[in-house]
Amino acid sequence: MTKGNINVSVENIFPLIKKFLYSDHEIFLRELISNATDATLKLKHLTSIGESKSEYGEPKIEVKIDKDGKKLHIIDQGIGMTAEEVEKYINQIAFSGAEEFLDKYKDAGKDAGIIGHFGLGFYSSFMVADKVEIITKSHTDAPAAHWTCDGSPEFTLEETDKKDRGTEIILHISEGEEAFLEESRIRELLVKYNKFMPIPIKFGTKTETLPKPEGAKEDDPAPTQEVDDIINNPNPAWTKQPTDLEEDDYKNFYRELYPMQFEEPLFNIHLNVDYPFHLTGILYFPKMTNDLNIQKDRIQLYQNQVFVTDNVEGIVPEFLTMLRGVIDSPDIPLNVSRSYLQADSNVKKISSYITRKVADKLKSIFNNNREDFEKKWDDIKIVIEYGMLSEEKFFEKADAFALYPTVDGKFYTFEELTNAIKAKQTDKDDKMVILYASNKDEQHAYIQAAKDKDYEVLLLDSPIVSHLMQKLETSKENISFARVDADHIDNLIKKDDTTISKLSEDEKTKLDELLKEVVPSEKFMVQLEAMDSNASPFIITQPEFMRRMKEMQQTGGGMFGMGNMPEMYNLVVNTNHELVGQILNTKTRKKQERLINQSLDLARLSQGLLKGEELTNFIKRSYDMIK
Ligand code: ADP
Repeated sequence: MTKGNINVSVENIFPLIKKFLYSDHEIFLRELISNATDATLKLKHLTSIGESKSEYGEPKIEVKIDKDGKKLHIIDQGIGMTAEEVEKYINQIAFSGAEEFLDKYKDAGKDAGIIGHFGLGFYSSFMVADKVEIITKSHTDAPAAHWTCDGSPEFTLEETDKKDRGTEIILHISEGEEAFLEESRIRELLVKYNKFMPIPIKFGTKTETLPKPEGAKEDDPAPTQEVDDIINNPNPAWTKQPTDLEEDDYKNFYRELYPMQFEEPLFNIHLNVDYPFHLTGILYFPKMTNDLNIQKDRIQLYQNQVFVTDNVEGIVPEFLTMLRGVIDSPDIPLNVSRSYLQADSNVKKISSYITRKVADKLKSIFNNNREDFEKKWDDIKIVIEYGMLSEEKFFEKADAFALYPTVDGKFYTFEELTNAIKAKQTDKDDKMVILYASNKDEQHAYIQAAKDKDYEVLLLDSPIVSHLMQKLETSKENISFARVDADHIDNLIKKDDTTISKLSEDEKTKLDELLKEVVPSEKFMVQLEAMDSNASPFIITQPEFMRRMKEMQQTGGGMFGMGNMPEMYNLVVNTNHELVGQILNTKTRKKQERLINQSLDLARLSQGLLKGEELTNFIKRSYDMIK
């Protein structure tokens, strides 16, 4: 037996490991299973190149709980270690055997998929154990070795009689960490971290029902058998070639990832790069709601099929954190701060690759099946619009597939839209005015009025659309957006618009004075307008600029500093409407006021502005009038 001291520099590291290094004690299991996986993959590699006489077979990794003995066993059938290798690899902290292995088999070993570099690896077991044993038999002829360490720098190393190739790690679980002796807790961790690891992981057994034998009676019980309970799927979809996968494979994998999710994903995007970095993965567009916050943290990050985290902030551009799926890359540095991560050049490349890939995929879906794309637009627009706002590259690419639906359910690209309205919707400065509604019901009267003039009206109702319009106005030439109830729309010139006012200048002055006396000036700016006699007599509009600033403030965190902007509306009075003439010619002042107030309330009602007591009074007054 050898006794010894682990490298002196270690002396103070053990307490460190326990207290500070890992805030998440649970990751020890991920580390140990990663090591077991590595050891197995190394053996696979060696046997495949004829450098091991060992039979590879169908190795698995087993996790066993010994509750009474307060022990947790992790057993693999991998490459194993000789006593010298234990000395070297285990006793010298920060000595990465994986790295040496990689070095040695640099060229041949590329595809071996070595997992490592998670940090302290093996030593993280001391976070939950006060004593750790390693019983290991190398794939070579060397005798088996038994290493024991109680968490101090002292260790023992002796020969033992283990016959089968591979390594068994025994953790003597320390006081306070007994949760790691619970079946349910270990199962939970295995599912969380190891669900897609490349070597089968056995955790106990389960009963499997077999088909009844020929000639069995109706009420004979079906025969059963005990089989290994394998936790993981060693060949998840993202590790395969896109050409080997059907639409259904993607859907099934989505269900595997999110068993509690009943809704089908809308699209999937298979990521697969080798150069200048390694990245594979599958992203899914789920059905989106308008609530941006609850949908994050659904993309899982893996390294060589080992789960790392479901917080991909900094790795995936923010707007894509609303997607779901898996990203697997060995080139993302771990155990570093988020800000470091964002500055890392590989991570930057990865982020922009993903953005580009998503844009390309959307474009190809749009080109191949526009009808389907239009159908799904409502469910994906929030991601696309958010992306257009936050990533310049995406904004440029999205021009090809971002859609602008009309209130009638037609879908335009931006280019198609401008072509459609070019001739008929320009203002005095020859600027194109794109009309939109945000709510078909609330703005019904305005939409109708615009449609009567043969204008196109878009339906733009996502919460960030005011920001997007602002962006489009600054990056596209000669266009502006105006909501159907905005004052802007009055400036639209229809080329054949030649409505002449029925009122004389004198009458107009009289009307103007009358209205200004009756209508509260702190709320409404009165404007006289000669419109079509069929248009409403009183119309309330709101300055586009003001309304949009307010909306942007609500969705953009108050950066515009307009917290207490007063509610200010325009009251447009159509001087050509019969009722307006009637108001002017009514004899008594009292009756004039009644007509104006009633008309104003009707206009407010149609804008959704009449509420509470005012609404009650209005209804009462209306009944009085008709009874
Ligand atoms: P890393 O895995 O990052 O190299 P570890 O501290 O986890 O660091 O492991 C150190 C080394 O010990 C490994 O590189 C490997 O050579 C060896 N090792 C650990 N676990 C096993 C195992 N189950 N089978 C064979 N070798 C192992």
